[in-house]
Amino acid sequence: MQGIVMRSTGSWYDVRTPEGEIYACRLRGKFKIKELKVNNPLAVGDYVVFAPDAPDKREGLITEILDRDNYIIRKSVHKSGHGHILAANLDQAILIATLAFPRTSMGFIDRFLVTTETYRIPAGVIFNKLDIMNEEGLEALEGLKELYESLGYSCLFTSAITEAGLDELSALLAGKKSLLSGHSGVGKSTLVNCLAPDLDLKTSEVSTFANKGVHTTTYAEMFEIAPQTFLIDTPGIKELGLLEVEKEEISHYFPEMRERFGECKYYNCRHINEPQCAIQEAVRNGEIALSRYHSYLSMVEDYDNRR
Ligand code: GDP
Ligand code: ZN
Repeated sequence: MQGIVMRSTGSWYDVRTPEGEIYACRLRGKFKIKELKVNNPLAVGDYVVFAPDAPDKREGLITEILDRDNYIIRKSVHKSGHGHILAANLDQAILIATLAFPRTSMGFIDRFLVTTETYRIPAGVIFNKLDIMNEEGLEALEGLKELYESLGYSCLFTSAITEAGLDELSALLAGKKSLLSGHSGVGKSTLVNCLAPDLDLKTSEVSTFANKGVHTTTYAEMFEIAPQTFLIDTPGIKELGLLEVEKEEISHYFPEMRERFGECKYYNCRHINEPQCAIQEAVRNGEIALSRYHSYLSMVEDYDNRR
């Protein structure tokens, strides 16, 4: 039989069949994943082949892991160069952000987007708490929407209080497997509960979404909020390592910089203070947003500090 991994505890995996039945499965023997230095062979979102133990029992043995379209990884803090696969086969990664209470910084948003670019996963930003935005805030939001949409990212405004934007959010998620991320307090759990009020989330599942404390959850979990519509809850994206990105490559993950690739005078231009730099020129004439450029500079600086 085939199914998708909804949850993992490290030794047991909840596998959901296309009919919606859940089997508790173990993994046969030792699976070695070639080329990938990871501690866990299997993650939420993986498609697997499994053999049920007995016809009347919802338990089985996983015998095969199907090829992944993509995956996201969390770097191991213990073993350098090793990581932990958080989730596989995502259709999109969504950041829930707020301009106030709490304020999500532009740097954080751009870092999230760069991360999703390195994994080649389509991304979007949802600005929640629309109801508490004043005129200035609304104007800022419009500017951000224009900016992010022009870069190819989905962008929506929502309010879990007034329910503004919830239909659009449902439409964005429908039929897809979406990773949901965001600082705690932005309204992630409230939004999910608005979208799926009938979903009988067990307390533990709710607490995963509402997890305010330190990141005790090592494993991501997937929820079906509507037919074929899955949400994957993960802790803040800060936890997610960028794929092995060299400093010179950071600009490749900014679409507006990537499209100007090769236009600078120097082939190894860092776009910081070099003359005849197409990126700095585009920032000066407003074609590249200053906030994005600042995020780029801060990422380059962080890279230097890590060395
Ligand atoms: P999470 O940590 O991201 O899961 O955030 P919660 O869902 O726990 O929400 C944090 C706080 O923000 C709670 O007090 C919610 O009632 C509140 N909240 C959530 N969404 C909205 C919204 O759209 N507008 C306003 N004003 N408050 C919201
Ligand atoms: Zn340059």
